[in-house]
Amino acid sequence: MSELAILGGKPLIKEIIPSYQSLGKEEIVAVNNVMSSGVLSGFYGSWSDEFFGGEEVKHLEKKWSSEFKVKYSISVNSNTSGLIAAIGACGIGPGDEVIVPPLTMSATAMAPIFYGAIPVFADVEAETFCLDVEQVRKNITPKTKAIIAVNLFGHPARLKELKKLANENSLRLIEDNAQAPFAKEDNAYTGTVGDIGVFSLNYHKHIHSGEGGVCVTNDENLARRMSLIRNHAENIVEPIDLKDITNMVGMNLRMTELSAAIAGVQLEKGKELISGRQGIARKLSGLIIDIEGMEVPAERSNCDHVYYMWALKYCENSIGVNRDIFAKALVAEGVPVGIGYVKPLYKLPLFRNKIAIGNKGYPFNLTKRNYDGDLCPVAEQLHKHELITIEICSIDPTSKQIDDMAAAFYKVYKNRNELINFDKAE
Ligand SMILES: *Cc1c(COP(=O)(O)O)cnc(C)c1O
Repeated sequence: MSELAILGGKPLIKEIIPSYQSLGKEEIVAVNNVMSSGVLSGFYGSWSDEFFGGEEVKHLEKKWSSEFKVKYSISVNSNTSGLIAAIGACGIGPGDEVIVPPLTMSATAMAPIFYGAIPVFADVEAETFCLDVEQVRKNITPKTKAIIAVNLFGHPARLKELKKLANENSLRLIEDNAQAPFAKEDNAYTGTVGDIGVFSLNYHKHIHSGEGGVCVTNDENLARRMSLIRNHAENIVEPIDLKDITNMVGMNLRMTELSAAIAGVQLEKGKELISGRQGIARKLSGLIIDIEGMEVPAERSNCDHVYYMWALKYCENSIGVNRDIFAKALVAEGVPVGIGYVKPLYKLPLFRNKIAIGNKGYPFNLTKRNYDGDLCPVAEQLHKHELITIEICSIDPTSKQIDDMAAAFYKVYKNRNELINFDKAE
Protein backbone atom coordinates (compact mmCIF):
# COMPACT_ATOMS: atom_id res chain seq x y z
CA MET A 1 0.00 0.00 0.00
CA SER A 2 1.08 3.59 -0.58
CA GLU A 3 2.51 5.81 2.14
CA LEU A 4 0.65 8.79 0.71
CA ALA A 5 -2.46 9.80 2.64
CA ILE A 6 -4.29 10.56 -0.59
CA LEU A 7 -3.82 6.90 -1.58
CA GLY A 8 -4.83 5.47 1.79
CA GLY A 9 -1.66 5.97 3.87
CA LYS A 10 -1.39 7.77 7.22
CA PRO A 11 -1.52 11.60 7.11
CA LEU A 12 1.64 13.27 8.32
CA ILE A 13 -0.01 16.01 10.38
CA LYS A 14 -2.23 14.48 13.01
CA GLU A 15 -3.17 17.36 15.29
CA ILE A 16 -5.34 20.18 14.06
CA ILE A 17 -3.37 23.33 13.24
CA PRO A 18 -4.63 26.12 15.52
CA SER A 19 -6.11 29.17 13.85
CA TYR A 20 -4.46 32.59 13.97
CA GLN A 21 -5.92 34.84 16.62
CA SER A 22 -4.73 38.41 16.98
CA LEU A 23 -7.19 39.54 19.66
CA GLY A 24 -6.46 39.43 23.38
CA LYS A 25 -7.53 40.82 26.74
CA GLU A 26 -6.47 44.37 25.90
CA GLU A 27 -9.08 44.61 23.15
CA ILE A 28 -11.79 43.50 25.59
CA VAL A 29 -10.78 46.25 28.00
CA ALA A 30 -10.80 48.80 25.19
CA VAL A 31 -14.26 47.73 24.05
CA ASN A 32 -15.63 47.81 27.59
CA ASN A 33 -14.36 51.35 28.04
CA VAL A 34 -16.23 52.47 24.94
CA MET A 35 -19.35 50.61 26.04
CA SER A 36 -19.23 52.31 29.43
CA SER A 37 -18.95 55.70 27.76
CA GLY A 38 -22.17 55.00 25.87
CA VAL A 39 -20.78 56.69 22.75
CA LEU A 40 -20.56 54.08 20.02
CA SER A 41 -20.04 56.57 17.23
CA GLY A 42 -18.76 60.11 17.50
CA PHE A 43 -19.60 61.18 13.95
CA TYR A 44 -22.09 63.78 12.89
CA GLY A 45 -22.95 64.25 9.20
CA SER A 46 -22.99 68.02 9.08
CA TRP A 47 -20.31 70.64 9.64
CA SER A 48 -19.64 70.67 13.38
CA ASP A 49 -17.03 69.64 15.95
CA GLU A 50 -18.16 66.07 15.46
CA PHE A 51 -17.69 66.01 11.69
CA PHE A 52 -14.31 64.24 11.97
CA GLY A 53 -15.54 61.56 14.39
CA GLY A 54 -15.24 60.65 18.05
CA GLU A 55 -12.33 60.36 20.46
CA GLU A 56 -11.37 56.79 19.58
CA VAL A 57 -11.48 57.48 15.84
CA LYS A 58 -9.33 60.58 16.18
CA HIS A 59 -6.94 58.79 18.51
CA LEU A 60 -6.57 55.86 16.12
CA GLU A 61 -5.90 58.18 13.18
CA LYS A 62 -3.24 60.06 15.11
CA LYS A 63 -1.51 56.85 16.19
CA TRP A 64 -1.76 55.46 12.66
CA SER A 65 -0.07 58.54 11.22
CA SER A 66 2.76 58.41 13.69
CA GLU A 67 3.26 54.64 13.35
CA PHE A 68 3.43 54.73 9.54
CA LYS A 69 5.12 58.15 9.38
CA VAL A 70 2.49 59.92 7.28
CA LYS A 71 0.78 63.27 7.69
CA TYR A 72 -2.83 62.17 7.40
CA SER A 73 -4.80 59.01 8.25
CA ILE A 74 -8.51 58.76 7.50
CA SER A 75 -10.28 55.79 9.04
CA VAL A 76 -13.14 54.17 7.13
CA ASN A 77 -15.37 51.15 7.58
CA SER A 78 -13.42 48.90 5.16
CA ASN A 79 -10.55 48.86 2.69
CA THR A 80 -13.18 48.63 -0.07
CA SER A 81 -14.68 51.91 1.18
CA GLY A 82 -11.21 53.39 1.42
CA LEU A 83 -10.42 52.55 -2.21
CA ILE A 84 -13.67 54.18 -3.30
CA ALA A 85 -12.88 57.30 -1.27
CA ALA A 86 -9.37 57.35 -2.75
CA ILE A 87 -10.58 57.15 -6.36
CA GLY A 88 -13.17 59.83 -5.61
CA ALA A 89 -10.66 62.12 -3.92
CA CYS A 90 -8.37 61.89 -6.97
CA GLY A 91 -11.17 63.41 -9.07
CA ILE A 92 -11.51 60.35 -11.30
CA GLY A 93 -14.71 60.19 -13.34
CA PRO A 94 -16.61 58.54 -16.21
CA GLY A 95 -14.41 57.20 -19.01
CA ASP A 96 -11.13 57.79 -17.17
CA GLU A 97 -8.83 54.80 -17.07
CA VAL A 98 -7.29 53.27 -13.96
CA ILE A 99 -4.58 50.63 -14.31
CA VAL A 100 -4.96 47.68 -11.93
CA PRO A 101 -3.51 44.16 -11.63
CA PRO A 102 -5.77 41.19 -12.44
CA LEU A 103 -4.50 39.12 -9.52
CA THR A 104 -6.06 40.75 -6.47
CA MET A 105 -9.21 40.84 -4.41
CA SER A 106 -12.01 42.18 -6.62
CA ALA A 107 -12.50 45.42 -4.64
CA THR A 108 -9.30 46.82 -6.21
CA ALA A 109 -10.93 46.86 -9.64
CA MET A 110 -14.43 47.83 -8.47
CA ALA A 111 -13.46 51.15 -6.90
CA PRO A 112 -12.96 52.89 -10.30
CA ILE A 113 -16.24 51.47 -11.61
CA PHE A 114 -18.25 53.26 -8.90
CA TYR A 115 -17.10 56.54 -10.48
CA GLY A 116 -17.72 55.34 -14.05
CA ALA A 117 -14.01 54.82 -14.66
CA ILE A 118 -12.57 51.93 -16.65
CA PRO A 119 -10.27 49.39 -15.00
CA VAL A 120 -7.41 48.48 -17.34
CA PHE A 121 -5.61 45.27 -16.44
CA ALA A 122 -1.82 45.20 -16.60
CA ASP A 123 -0.06 41.88 -16.08
CA VAL A 124 1.95 41.00 -12.99
CA GLU A 125 5.57 39.92 -12.75
CA ALA A 126 6.30 36.24 -12.25
CA GLU A 127 8.64 36.83 -9.32
CA THR A 128 6.49 38.68 -6.78
CA PHE A 129 3.05 38.48 -8.44
CA CYS A 130 2.67 42.28 -8.18
CA LEU A 131 2.26 44.73 -11.10
CA ASP A 132 4.88 44.53 -13.85
CA VAL A 133 6.09 48.08 -14.38
CA GLU A 134 6.64 47.61 -18.14
CA GLN A 135 3.11 46.27 -18.56
CA VAL A 136 1.77 49.30 -16.71
CA ARG A 137 3.78 51.61 -18.96
CA LYS A 138 2.39 49.94 -22.10
CA ASN A 139 -1.16 50.52 -20.92
CA ILE A 140 -0.87 54.24 -20.25
CA THR A 141 -3.01 56.36 -22.60
CA PRO A 142 -4.16 59.99 -22.51
CA LYS A 143 -7.20 58.71 -20.59
CA THR A 144 -5.19 57.13 -17.76
CA LYS A 145 -5.62 58.93 -14.44
CA ALA A 146 -4.28 56.51 -11.85
CA ILE A 147 -2.53 53.24 -11.09
CA ILE A 148 -3.67 51.04 -8.22
CA ALA A 149 -0.73 48.92 -7.08
CA VAL A 150 -1.52 45.98 -4.83
CA ASN A 151 1.13 44.82 -2.38
CA LEU A 152 0.00 41.28 -2.94
CA PHE A 153 0.35 38.56 -0.32
CA GLY A 154 2.30 41.00 1.86
CA HIS A 155 5.10 41.78 -0.62
CA PRO A 156 5.68 45.34 -1.86
CA ALA A 157 4.93 46.05 -5.51
CA ARG A 158 7.71 47.98 -7.28
CA LEU A 159 6.43 51.11 -5.60
CA LYS A 160 9.36 53.43 -6.16
CA GLU A 161 9.44 52.64 -9.87
CA LEU A 162 5.66 52.91 -10.16
CA LYS A 163 5.68 56.27 -8.38
CA LYS A 164 8.31 57.53 -10.82
CA LEU A 165 6.26 56.29 -13.77
CA ALA A 166 3.14 57.88 -12.31
CA ASN A 167 4.90 61.21 -11.79
CA GLU A 168 6.29 61.22 -15.34
CA ASN A 169 2.77 60.82 -16.68
CA SER A 170 0.92 63.00 -14.13
CA LEU A 171 -0.94 60.00 -12.74
CA ARG A 172 -1.94 59.21 -9.19
CA LEU A 173 -0.50 56.12 -7.55
CA ILE A 174 -2.90 54.48 -5.11
CA GLU A 175 -1.70 51.52 -3.06
CA ASP A 176 -4.10 48.78 -2.06
CA ASN A 177 -2.19 47.80 1.05
CA ALA A 178 -4.84 45.48 2.53
CA GLN A 179 -2.44 42.56 2.67
CA ALA A 180 0.76 44.32 3.63
CA PRO A 181 0.70 46.39 6.82
CA PHE A 182 4.29 47.09 7.98
CA ALA A 183 5.81 45.70 4.77
CA LYS A 184 8.69 47.80 3.49
CA GLU A 185 10.42 48.72 0.28
CA ASP A 186 13.74 50.51 0.87
CA ASN A 187 12.79 51.38 4.44
CA ALA A 188 9.52 53.00 3.37
CA TYR A 189 6.34 51.41 4.65
CA THR A 190 4.08 50.12 1.88
CA GLY A 191 0.99 52.29 1.71
CA THR A 192 3.06 55.44 2.15
CA VAL A 193 4.90 55.58 -1.19
CA GLY A 194 1.87 56.26 -3.36
CA ASP A 195 -0.30 59.39 -3.22
CA ILE A 196 -2.77 57.38 -1.14
CA GLY A 197 -2.41 54.02 0.60
CA VAL A 198 -5.38 52.00 1.81
CA PHE A 199 -5.16 49.50 4.67
CA SER A 200 -7.75 46.90 5.70
CA LEU A 201 -8.86 46.05 9.22
CA ASN A 202 -11.06 43.18 8.10
CA TYR A 203 -11.21 40.03 10.23
CA HIS A 204 -9.04 38.04 7.81
CA LYS A 205 -6.13 40.44 7.81
CA HIS A 206 -2.95 40.66 9.96
CA ILE A 207 -4.56 43.14 12.35
CA HIS A 208 -8.28 43.79 12.44
CA SER A 209 -11.33 45.22 14.11
CA GLY A 210 -13.85 42.92 12.45
CA GLU A 211 -14.40 45.40 9.66
CA GLY A 212 -12.51 48.61 9.03
CA GLY A 213 -9.87 50.37 6.98
CA VAL A 214 -7.53 53.34 6.98
CA CYS A 215 -6.46 55.63 4.11
CA VAL A 216 -3.12 57.38 4.46
CA THR A 217 -1.65 60.29 2.50
CA ASN A 218 0.77 63.19 2.83
CA ASP A 219 -1.40 65.40 0.61
CA GLU A 220 -3.63 67.75 2.56
CA ASN A 221 -6.09 68.19 -0.28
CA LEU A 222 -6.53 64.45 -0.85
CA ALA A 223 -6.90 63.93 2.89
CA ARG A 224 -9.65 66.52 3.11
CA ARG A 225 -11.49 65.12 0.11
CA MET A 226 -11.39 61.60 1.52
CA SER A 227 -12.70 62.77 4.87
CA LEU A 228 -15.56 64.55 3.07
CA ILE A 229 -16.47 61.54 0.91
CA ARG A 230 -16.48 59.50 4.12
CA ASN A 231 -19.13 61.70 5.65
CA HIS A 232 -21.78 63.24 3.35
CA ALA A 233 -19.48 65.61 1.41
CA GLU A 234 -22.41 67.30 -0.35
CA ASN A 235 -23.48 68.94 2.90
CA ILE A 236 -20.03 70.24 3.74
CA VAL A 237 -18.71 71.89 0.56
CA GLU A 238 -20.72 75.05 1.28
CA PRO A 239 -19.82 75.61 4.92
CA ILE A 240 -16.11 75.09 4.20
CA ASP A 241 -16.32 76.99 0.90
CA LEU A 242 -14.76 74.20 -1.15
CA LYS A 243 -14.37 75.42 -4.73
CA ASP A 244 -13.76 72.15 -6.59
CA ILE A 245 -16.82 70.02 -5.87
CA THR A 246 -15.83 67.17 -8.23
CA ASN A 247 -16.91 63.85 -6.69
CA MET A 248 -18.09 65.56 -3.53
CA VAL A 249 -20.91 63.06 -3.38
CA GLY A 250 -20.60 61.73 0.10
CA MET A 251 -21.37 58.42 1.65
CA ASN A 252 -21.33 57.08 5.14
CA LEU A 253 -18.01 55.23 5.34
CA ARG A 254 -17.48 56.05 9.00
CA MET A 255 -15.82 53.83 11.57
CA THR A 256 -17.51 53.19 14.92
CA GLU A 257 -15.83 54.03 18.22
CA LEU A 258 -15.82 50.31 19.06
CA SER A 259 -13.90 49.39 15.92
CA ALA A 260 -11.50 52.30 16.42
CA ALA A 261 -10.76 51.24 19.99
CA ILE A 262 -10.00 47.68 18.90
CA ALA A 263 -7.95 48.87 15.93
CA GLY A 264 -5.88 51.10 18.21
CA VAL A 265 -4.85 48.13 20.34
CA GLN A 266 -4.23 45.99 17.27
CA LEU A 267 -2.01 48.68 15.82
CA GLU A 268 0.15 48.65 18.95
CA LYS A 269 0.60 44.90 18.61
CA GLY A 270 1.01 45.06 14.86
CA LYS A 271 4.75 44.67 14.50
CA GLU A 272 4.88 41.75 16.89
CA LEU A 273 1.99 39.98 15.17
CA ILE A 274 3.64 40.48 11.82
CA SER A 275 6.97 39.13 12.93
CA GLY A 276 5.13 36.00 14.05
CA ARG A 277 3.70 35.60 10.53
CA GLN A 278 7.13 36.15 9.02
CA GLY A 279 8.65 33.55 11.32
CA ILE A 280 6.21 30.86 10.18
CA ALA A 281 6.58 31.65 6.49
CA ARG A 282 10.35 31.97 6.50
CA LYS A 283 10.84 28.80 8.48
CA LEU A 284 8.67 26.85 6.04
CA SER A 285 10.48 28.37 3.05
CA GLY A 286 13.86 27.52 4.54
CA LEU A 287 12.87 23.90 5.06
CA ILE A 288 11.70 23.21 1.52
CA ILE A 289 13.92 25.52 -0.48
CA ASP A 290 15.90 22.60 -1.89
CA ILE A 291 13.01 20.79 -3.53
CA GLU A 292 13.56 20.94 -7.26
CA GLY A 293 10.69 22.51 -9.18
CA MET A 294 9.37 24.54 -6.26
CA GLU A 295 10.22 28.19 -5.81
CA VAL A 296 9.57 29.43 -2.30
CA PRO A 297 8.24 33.02 -2.04
CA ALA A 298 10.74 35.58 -3.28
CA GLU A 299 11.67 38.61 -1.23
CA ARG A 300 13.11 41.32 -3.44
CA SER A 301 16.29 42.87 -2.02
CA ASN A 302 15.57 45.79 0.31
CA CYS A 303 12.02 44.55 0.78
CA ASP A 304 10.31 43.24 3.89
CA HIS A 305 7.56 40.71 3.08
CA VAL A 306 4.83 40.39 5.76
CA TYR A 307 3.24 37.14 4.50
CA TYR A 308 -0.48 37.50 4.36
CA MET A 309 -0.08 34.52 2.08
CA TRP A 310 2.82 32.20 1.53
CA ALA A 311 2.74 31.52 -2.21
CA LEU A 312 4.94 28.89 -3.74
CA LYS A 313 5.64 28.65 -7.47
CA TYR A 314 5.24 25.09 -8.61
CA CYS A 315 6.77 23.86 -11.85
CA GLU A 316 4.61 21.12 -13.34
CA ASN A 317 7.16 20.27 -16.04
CA SER A 318 9.98 19.75 -13.61
CA ILE A 319 7.98 17.78 -11.05
CA GLY A 320 5.97 15.79 -13.56
CA VAL A 321 2.72 15.87 -11.59
CA ASN A 322 -0.23 18.13 -12.17
CA ARG A 323 -0.23 20.96 -9.62
CA ASP A 324 -3.81 20.41 -8.49
CA ILE A 325 -3.13 16.74 -7.75
CA PHE A 326 0.08 17.53 -5.88
CA ALA A 327 -1.85 20.07 -3.79
CA LYS A 328 -4.61 17.54 -3.11
CA ALA A 329 -1.98 15.12 -1.85
CA LEU A 330 -0.62 17.82 0.47
CA VAL A 331 -4.10 18.54 1.83
CA ALA A 332 -4.55 14.82 2.50
CA GLU A 333 -1.35 14.95 4.58
CA GLY A 334 -2.87 17.80 6.61
CA VAL A 335 -1.13 20.78 4.98
CA PRO A 336 -3.65 23.62 4.53
CA VAL A 337 -2.71 24.56 0.96
CA GLY A 338 -4.85 26.09 -1.73
CA ILE A 339 -4.27 26.31 -5.47
CA GLY A 340 -3.98 29.56 -7.40
CA TYR A 341 -5.44 32.73 -5.94
CA VAL A 342 -8.44 34.44 -7.51
CA LYS A 343 -9.28 34.00 -11.18
CA PRO A 344 -7.84 36.95 -13.11
CA LEU A 345 -10.50 39.58 -12.46
CA TYR A 346 -11.29 40.29 -16.13
CA LYS A 347 -12.92 36.83 -16.18
CA LEU A 348 -15.70 38.03 -13.85
CA PRO A 349 -19.20 38.14 -15.43
CA LEU A 350 -19.21 41.91 -14.92
CA PHE A 351 -16.32 42.35 -17.40
CA ARG A 352 -17.24 39.54 -19.78
CA ASN A 353 -20.80 40.85 -20.14
CA LYS A 354 -19.91 44.52 -19.66
CA ILE A 355 -22.76 44.98 -17.21
CA ALA A 356 -21.85 46.97 -14.10
CA ILE A 357 -23.88 50.08 -13.24
CA GLY A 358 -27.39 49.74 -14.64
CA ASN A 359 -27.92 47.28 -17.46
CA LYS A 360 -27.05 49.37 -20.50
CA GLY A 361 -23.31 48.80 -20.45
CA TYR A 362 -22.19 51.77 -18.32
CA PRO A 363 -19.33 52.52 -17.85
CA PHE A 364 -17.94 50.11 -20.47
CA ASN A 365 -19.86 51.93 -23.21
CA LEU A 366 -17.39 54.79 -22.66
CA THR A 367 -14.42 52.75 -23.89
CA LYS A 368 -13.27 50.62 -26.82
CA ARG A 369 -11.32 48.42 -24.44
CA ASN A 370 -12.52 44.88 -24.05
CA TYR A 371 -11.85 42.07 -21.65
CA ASP A 372 -11.94 39.04 -23.95
CA GLY A 373 -9.38 36.27 -23.94
CA ASP A 374 -6.39 35.73 -21.71
CA LEU A 375 -5.37 39.38 -21.31
CA CYS A 376 -2.59 38.78 -18.78
CA PRO A 377 -0.67 35.56 -19.55
CA VAL A 378 1.56 35.66 -16.47
CA ALA A 379 -1.41 35.97 -14.12
CA GLU A 380 -3.22 33.18 -16.02
CA GLN A 381 -0.25 30.85 -15.76
CA LEU A 382 0.21 31.56 -12.04
CA HIS A 383 -3.43 30.99 -11.28
CA LYS A 384 -3.99 27.91 -13.44
CA HIS A 385 -0.69 26.07 -13.08
CA GLU A 386 1.82 27.53 -10.68
CA LEU A 387 0.62 28.93 -7.38
CA ILE A 388 0.29 26.78 -4.27
CA THR A 389 -0.72 29.00 -1.37
CA ILE A 390 -1.00 28.89 2.40
CA GLU A 391 -2.96 31.61 4.17
CA ILE A 392 -0.49 32.50 6.90
CA CYS A 393 -3.03 34.92 8.38
CA SER A 394 -5.46 32.12 9.14
CA ILE A 395 -3.23 29.54 10.86
CA ASP A 396 -0.93 29.44 13.85
CA PRO A 397 1.09 26.23 13.57
CA THR A 398 3.47 25.10 16.28
CA SER A 399 7.13 24.82 15.39
CA LYS A 400 6.71 21.05 15.17
CA GLN A 401 3.76 21.48 12.83
CA ILE A 402 5.84 23.66 10.51
CA ASP A 403 8.44 20.87 10.44
CA ASP A 404 5.65 18.43 9.64
CA MET A 405 4.29 20.65 6.88
CA ALA A 406 7.74 20.69 5.29
CA ALA A 407 8.08 16.93 5.77
CA ALA A 408 4.76 16.51 3.98
CA PHE A 409 6.10 18.43 0.98
CA TYR A 410 9.09 16.04 0.88
CA LYS A 411 6.90 13.00 1.38
CA VAL A 412 4.60 13.87 -1.50
CA TYR A 413 7.56 14.86 -3.65
CA LYS A 414 9.42 11.61 -2.94
CA ASN A 415 6.37 9.53 -3.81
CA ARG A 416 5.21 11.70 -6.68
CA ASN A 417 5.46 8.90 -9.22
CA GLU A 418 2.44 7.32 -7.58
CA LEU A 419 0.46 10.44 -8.43
CA ILE A 420 1.21 10.54 -12.15
CA ASN A 421 -1.82 8.40 -12.96
CA PHE A 422 -3.90 9.69 -10.09
CA ASP A 423 -6.49 11.26 -12.39
CA LYS A 424 -7.17 7.90 -14.03
CA ALA A 425 -7.30 6.03 -10.73
CA GLU A 426 -9.74 8.51 -9.23
C1 LIG B 1 -9.10 42.12 1.87
C2 LIG B 1 -8.75 42.92 0.69
C3 LIG B 1 -9.54 43.98 0.26
C4 LIG B 1 -10.84 44.32 0.89
O1 LIG B 1 -10.71 44.70 2.22
P1 LIG B 1 -12.01 44.98 3.11
O2 LIG B 1 -11.49 45.69 4.30
O3 LIG B 1 -12.58 43.63 3.43
O4 LIG B 1 -12.94 45.80 2.31
C5 LIG B 1 -9.10 44.71 -0.82
N1 LIG B 1 -7.98 44.43 -1.46
C6 LIG B 1 -7.19 43.39 -1.10
C7 LIG B 1 -5.92 43.14 -1.85
C8 LIG B 1 -7.57 42.60 -0.02
O5 LIG B 1 -6.79 41.57 0.34
